[in-house]
Amino acid sequence: MFIDGKWVDAHSGKSFDVTNPATGEVLGSVPAGASEDAVAAVDAAHASFSEWSNTTPYERSRLLYRAWELMNERSEELAELMTAEQGKPLKAARAEVKYAADFLIWFAEEAKRVTGEWIPSQRPDQRFLAVKVPVGVVAAITPWNYPISMLTRKMGPALAAGCTLVLKPAESTPLCAKATYQVFVDAGIPDGVINLVTAADPAPIGDVFTGDPRVAKLTFTGSTAVGRVLATKSAANLQRISVELGGHAPFIVFPDADPVHAAKGAAALKFLNAGQACISPNRLYVPNSLSAAFEETLCSRVDRLQTGNGMSEGVGVGPLVSEAAVAKVEKQVEDARKKGAGVPIGGHRLTEGSYSAGHFFAPTVLTDISDDMTIYREETFGPVAPVITYDEPDEVIELANDTNYGLAAYVYTRDIAVAMRAFEGLRFGIIGVNDVNPTSASVPFGGMGDSGLGREGGHEGINEYLETKTGGFAI
Ligand code: ADP
Repeated sequence: MFIDGKWVDAHSGKSFDVTNPATGEVLGSVPAGASEDAVAAVDAAHASFSEWSNTTPYERSRLLYRAWELMNERSEELAELMTAEQGKPLKAARAEVKYAADFLIWFAEEAKRVTGEWIPSQRPDQRFLAVKVPVGVVAAITPWNYPISMLTRKMGPALAAGCTLVLKPAESTPLCAKATYQVFVDAGIPDGVINLVTAADPAPIGDVFTGDPRVAKLTFTGSTAVGRVLATKSAANLQRISVELGGHAPFIVFPDADPVHAAKGAAALKFLNAGQACISPNRLYVPNSLSAAFEETLCSRVDRLQTGNGMSEGVGVGPLVSEAAVAKVEKQVEDARKKGAGVPIGGHRLTEGSYSAGHFFAPTVLTDISDDMTIYREETFGPVAPVITYDEPDEVIELANDTNYGLAAYVYTRDIAVAMRAFEGLRFGIIGVNDVNPTSASVPFGGMGDSGLGREGGHEGINEYLETKTGGFAI
């Protein structure tokens, strides 16, 4: 763990192993932090806040810029570590490191653009101003599916704003978190400003983060269930919160779209990170008139996907994170099959030969999906593309909106009016129109409804770490 500028063991001396999800190989071991370690981390972040928040934005920008340079220099070793620890194919890991670094340079720039307002008064002898100040100590909890970029998406803006922080990474990807911290340390972030607590049991750490009055803000990315619990605890302490949670993205093909082009987009998007992304499409709505062409192209693309160890050349789909993840996907597929879904391709675990020690599920297409199936409502987080056919384009937006989630949605059409109406009608935070990658460090990311609160990235990203101070000056 990294506390007050030093790499340290857990107070208890305990540690836990980290394994490669493709091979089962033990990659290393990290300290099993507990409450007392989390408290020590908060102590350090609290003690360093005054000095760090009084550095100039130019100084903080310089350090973030240096971290960006170092992350780029180390991109290959970071990507290889990510593939070993998290499983995604090396090419995807390289893309994630680039995305992670993008947050560093974006917020290095944003640090210098935090301005205030000079506001006229009704009184001639008064002047008003409103300025932005850092919120204080930030506690961050991050997931395993994007084990480097989800750190920089929080650390970049927190540091740019002048906050200090404590962070707990997911238990399956602490090595990526350590390597990311080393980038910041080598960039010269002062002692105490960033602190890392690794833990096999996350709940006691979460309790310290949400219960300590010195923590001003909680930022969390993970499941809706855990986010709700943490947000409830934070609320008791009046902490500021941002939570980026689950999704159940619709992918709507309108009748005027090219079904082949749309199916290629769906195949490219759905199997990214083996479907383990909160913005992964979970319901593919295709008009009956196009379903044959769409399903044929989708299946032929899926057939060509190679599943395996992400380090091997040509592999497009890696392992899932754990046995529990495979079991959840299997359960959803079985439920759909029992209720009448077609399974033209995939639909089973991969357990033979080189798959035997890892957590693999075959890339799968399900057809004839209906709303009584679990997969229609529950997030899958796996390599399964469920196709739902429809007849009425006027009703499909309503069908797509019929979910408690509201993170991402995708639309395929060649008609600008259809695109604009869909963009306006869909209750989701991120909408891709003929676009399977509607994300970037420079745009807001976040969801509506059960998908969360707050936005990361973009101009809004830094605001989550700032609060407003108003001054009235009688002159
Ligand atoms: P997933 O289902 O995608 O693993 P989780 O929400 O369980 O998502 O995990 C996201 C992050 O939340 C991880 O860092 C995990 O350790 C953490 N986490 C899970 N349960 C708790 C909890 N009770 N308190 C604090 N953090 C938790």
